[in-house]
Amino acid sequence: MSDAASATPKKHAPQPPSASNFIRAAIDADLASGKYASRTWGGQPGPAKAHEGAATDPARIRTRFPPEPNGYLHIGHAKSICLNFGLARDYGGACHLRFDDTNPEKEEQEYVDSIIAAVKWLGYGWEHAGSSHLYYASDYFDFMYHAAEHLIETGHAYVDSLSAEQMRALRGTLTEAGKDSPYRDRSVEENLKLFRQMRDGRFREGEHVLRAKIDMASPNINLRDPAIYRIRKVSHHRTGDKWCVYPMYTYAHPIEDALERITHSLCTLEFEDQRPCYDWLLERLAEGGLLARPLPQQIEFARLNLTYVVLSKRKLVQLVAERHVDGWDDPRMPTLAGARRRGYTPEGFRLFAERIGVSKADSWIEYSVLEDCMREHLNEVAPRRMAVLDPVKLVIENYPEDREESCDVPNHPQKPEWGKRQVPFSRELWIEREDFTETPPKGYFRLFPGNKVRLRYGYIVECTGYDQATGTVRCRYDPDTRSGTPGAEKVKVKGNIHWVSVKHACAAEVRLYDRLFKVPHPGGNEDLNPDSRKIVTARLEPALGQARAEERFQFERHGYFVVDPLDSTPLAQVFNRAVTLRDSWKT
Ligand code: ATP
Ligand code: MG
Repeated sequence: MSDAASATPKKHAPQPPSASNFIRAAIDADLASGKYASRTWGGQPGPAKAHEGAATDPARIRTRFPPEPNGYLHIGHAKSICLNFGLARDYGGACHLRFDDTNPEKEEQEYVDSIIAAVKWLGYGWEHAGSSHLYYASDYFDFMYHAAEHLIETGHAYVDSLSAEQMRALRGTLTEAGKDSPYRDRSVEENLKLFRQMRDGRFREGEHVLRAKIDMASPNINLRDPAIYRIRKVSHHRTGDKWCVYPMYTYAHPIEDALERITHSLCTLEFEDQRPCYDWLLERLAEGGLLARPLPQQIEFARLNLTYVVLSKRKLVQLVAERHVDGWDDPRMPTLAGARRRGYTPEGFRLFAERIGVSKADSWIEYSVLEDCMREHLNEVAPRRMAVLDPVKLVIENYPEDREESCDVPNHPQKPEWGKRQVPFSRELWIEREDFTETPPKGYFRLFPGNKVRLRYGYIVECTGYDQATGTVRCRYDPDTRSGTPGAEKVKVKGNIHWVSVKHACAAEVRLYDRLFKVPHPGGNEDLNPDSRKIVTARLEPALGQARAEERFQFERHGYFVVDPLDSTPLAQVFNRAVTLRDSWKT
């Protein structure tokens, strides 16, 4: 399935199959033309002189996944991770995990740790040719500072002393050229002196900024002398108080890519207009001999938008801070930590990334596409079990009170090699409340007085009534209809229901999740679904009593469930529903 089949495209665009998308086509062309054949690698990121004369890069291409450690990764990041690490793997390249930690205010070690865990969980690593490629942009601060002085010295950067408001007023609009700042023509000496004083903490925040000197009349606003360094008197989670000037994303990102010798720098479409600036900056630093050629190239793809969730760290932070959810790893959260706890699988995410592909057009993907991928994988790996989520008691009047027997139940209907297990059967069973009614609507084939159903893997029973006082359903069984015995099929029934023996059942908390937002394209928290979580006490067949944290099962007729790794204890188990068996979300 391509984007076109599963989504509502905003713009019309041809959708290449994911196996050969436009990014792969660009890489194929670059490899065929030998664009990167002469690329050397000095063993670690660095300026031109670190790579000059070094051996040919053992990585045929280099990509990177560059999260800012200011939150937990979400499903949108999974798309980018699968894309970048997947391409590196397929082309014999390396993918770097780089923390883009240039913004000291919002960054924390907790986020760094969670990002590492999430990328590993998805099944990717950053080792290549015997070395690890885990990097921090903050390790390049010295180089970035030095490069900024170089830009000043070569007349490509100046210190501006306008207020943010004045600067905005001179920037112009989409239809109107900007105007030069009165500080644009400061001498190199003055710029250098001011910039050094900025670095030395001699000014207040906002008093001065360093700007690239490009073109205030450019039709592309990004080229109208973008700010590249600003004063921020904040401690950084890795560099502490060493710096009080920090590079802007526009400046830092291309430099990070070039130092790491990235070949293909993949980013989302909102950066398309910044590409000329990316190229301008790298050219200036390469012609000055600071950065090695060939330079990295930026390629943009459409970000993932998924119905019924928000994929923006800023909004996710808010959900956590305002306690609409229990935390970053709440199973309702579209974070990878939440999805993992929900019972989603890395294989399901990789299938999803493959299926949605990459395109140049923004679109919304239906949440059900992700759920289908999870179902497909869980169907393969989850053993079947019986669990009653909303129990009502069924008493078999003609079954001896002290009798017990074992039913043979396959662990997976399509995988006989997984064997069978013994599930105890006795006179009193739990069945689902909705599998019985006193007054059946048309087309109801389950239990009602006078009707027969099969108790899966057991016997056929006929309902004889309902006991109001005790709230139990009564029935009689036919001893000749035990599943798997000759003649079991002699009586034909339309209903086939699951059950758990009362005497043998374990009780467990089961958390049933629904969509977090009630509308497909959520705006703010007013769109939250107040019923996104329902908690029930379920009765489970005894084999589930031994289930371990994160073990996944299919509860027959209900869906896929996982043992909650945080709240579950051997004495009080908690299961989360990952996904129902069929789509109940379609819009
Ligand atoms: P957010 O807006 O959620 O904060 P971000 O883009 O600011 O996301 P980063 O940590 O900067 O988050 O992102 C790391 C990488 O993940 C970037 O290369 C970015 O393009 C990519 N990415 C983020 N969100 C998505 C998305 N929804 N779809 C695809 N890629 C994404
Ligand atoms: Mg960002």
